Amino acid sequence: MSIREALVEASSFLGSCGVLEPQHNARLLLEHVLGLEGTAFYAALADPFPASSKEAWEALISRKAAGEPAQYIIGRQEFYGRPFAVSPAVLIPRPETELLVEAILQHGDHLWPNGAPQALDIGAGSGAIAVTLAAERPRWRVAAGDISAAALEMAARNAAANGAAVEFREGDLLTPFAGAAVDILVSNPPYIPAADIAGLQPEVRDHEPRMALDGGPDGLGPYRAMLEQLGLLQAPPRLIGFELGMGQARDVAALLEQAGHWKTILIVPDLA
Ligand code: GLN
Repeated sequence: MSIREALVEASSFLGSCGVLEPQHNARLLLEHVLGLEGTAFYAALADPFPASSKEAWEALISRKAAGEPAQYIIGRQEFYGRPFAVSPAVLIPRPETELLVEAILQHGDHLWPNGAPQALDIGAGSGAIAVTLAAERPRWRVAAGDISAAALEMAARNAAANGAAVEFREGDLLTPFAGAAVDILVSNPPYIPAADIAGLQPEVRDHEPRMALDGGPDGLGPYRAMLEQLGLLQAPPRLIGFELGMGQARDVAALLEQAGHWKTILIVPDLA
């Protein structure tokens, strides 16, 4: 059997199991098991499938067929062009969140053209946001918090692997940063209304950390709490960037207006 045949066979098997994007998933797992990526993988398609990889390959495909996200199976996801290690302790970084990072970089450059702003990422998870900010803007000082020790461990590992300097603190939202001077606050908090969790795609619902998804009764709990905790910081951050769930922009804008520190509120729709 050639590598191409293995790919075709696995794609149709995964499809028949109801796995979404079966071909994409089969390719990710096959690249992983063969240790090949991108063009090297495509160049090898006509080669015979190595017998020594058969057992590992079948194990990966059965995990995928049972609904596990491919990123947890292979233990990695790319974000903003960098590799991030992921485990079920952290939400898998989403492409939508790259837009949030992009916006923070852009507005941060505008507000601090020569300076070194202090950025703080709340709910670091894998570290995707904080590590990317630190790697893209080595002059910025970047800190990040998470209530999950397991997530922080993963985030610290990702910071080290990407050569990014990030200060991590464990605790609930802003509480570990009492007294800190923060110029930029950024967060992709859990924002799904608790009652909507049951209706999520099973891959997300059954495998990703509930604490990274569940935003309480109306999904806005973490935004409200962060804005209420701003008094813990030396001063309100000049720039705040939040990822929001669908339909939450007006409500979160109202919360920001109520807090009353910001001149401009931008709402940027993403592709999702
Ligand atoms: N974007 C994620 C999803 O739809 C949710 C992430 C979050 O709650 N911050 O699965």
